[in-house]
Amino acid sequence: MNLARQIEQYLPRQLLELVKDISGQAAKRGQRVYLVGGAVRDLLLGYPNFDLDLVVEGDAVKLAQQVAETSQAKLLAHHRFGTAKLRYENFTLDLATARRETYAKPGALPAVTPGTLKDDLVRRDFSINAMAISLASNDYGELVDPHQGKSDLERRLVRILHPGSFSDDATRILRAVRYEQRLGFELETQTAQLLKRDIPMLNTISGDRIRHELELIFKEKQPEFAVRRLAELGVLPRISPFLKGDGWIAEKFDRARRLKKPAQLSSLYFCLLIYSFSEKGIEQFLARLNIPAKLSRAMHDTLRLKTNLPLLDKSSLKPSKIYYLLREYEPVAIQANAIASDSSMVHRSLQLFLTKLRYVRISLNGEELKRLGISAGPEMGKVLQILHKAKLDGELKTRADEKKLALSLSLKLER
Ligand code: ATP
Ligand code: MG
Repeated sequence: MNLARQIEQYLPRQLLELVKDISGQAAKRGQRVYLVGGAVRDLLLGYPNFDLDLVVEGDAVKLAQQVAETSQAKLLAHHRFGTAKLRYENFTLDLATARRETYAKPGALPAVTPGTLKDDLVRRDFSINAMAISLASNDYGELVDPHQGKSDLERRLVRILHPGSFSDDATRILRAVRYEQRLGFELETQTAQLLKRDIPMLNTISGDRIRHELELIFKEKQPEFAVRRLAELGVLPRISPFLKGDGWIAEKFDRARRLKKPAQLSSLYFCLLIYSFSEKGIEQFLARLNIPAKLSRAMHDTLRLKTNLPLLDKSSLKPSKIYYLLREYEPVAIQANAIASDSSMVHRSLQLFLTKLRYVRISLNGEELKRLGISAGPEMGKVLQILHKAKLDGELKTRADEKKLALSLSLKLER
């Protein structure tokens, strides 16, 4: 099957130019270049995906260096182990030397040696991700599909390439579910059986790698689908016995998306995910996933605030009181509680803090206060605090109001 016409229509012009330049220069070096992975899958499905991965039979780093020297593309990075990143206009493109991988033991990182395109495809996770398109001039556009990925795309199946795949690398369990749910596919029958069999192999995967896969799930449009499916397959308990993927999570994730920009969503999802956890549960989870300090603080704060919510469930709370109750918490923890709490009063107070109170500042600065007769040090600290409280409670509208109050405080302090 030849996809030359589809490539020409699918890729933006500048990106296509760069791709052609790369394959032209590769040909002169006696190397062949292929488009591989997600972009091939999405091109066949007709979904836009301009994160291109190219595989080079030969040294990808040398090729990328040469392309950067002779074109307007910039070399962004390159690594000893045969990968490089090029940027041209707004596009970035990854090049990798075709590699052969062998797993010494489950969960370990594989031993890598240079190989052919076929070697590079057989090490991949699923048939739908294991296709390539030739970019060489003599067979430009030819689909290379040794694992029947195209047929699986048509049958809408996620299928591993060999029975040992999940045990070699159990992160593929999470990846399988992510693609299944993103694309609305199903796990192929044997793949589903092997996935369930190999769930215990998740124990061989480091916290960082599991966390990374969860973060990828959290970048999906509707991560709750994958979370629910992971629960249904029995994967979640292997990560933490307290994790749930029920309707509550689905509803809260959906609400989270309406409030937060995509870039900040991941930590909010994490805080919602652990909302029903005990202290012990959260410690285990943080340790298992090697959660970094800031996120860990946010997750702890989420639970600490949850226990303190009754303090906020009152109708006549002054804004300053709400401020003092909430100022110590990470904003994302407050956001998580605003989403999770069923009380509309609590919800209103948390939102008031997040949207307004936390930004309230008085307009007068230290110099201006000094001119009103307030001396630097504890005295000024006290005055600033009183002004801030009054401003939070809406008692100071203008700079003149602030000055008036500051002056009366300074007179009081003199006495
Ligand atoms: P998307 O970025 O849309 O999720 P992708 O296919 O580009 O999909 P990446 O995570 O960017 O996914 O990985 C690129 C390619 O590398 C995949 O298509 C897959 O072939 C391969 N790959 C990634 N992770 C693994 C893994 N754990 N085991 C085997 N192959 C993998
Ligand atoms: Mg990708």
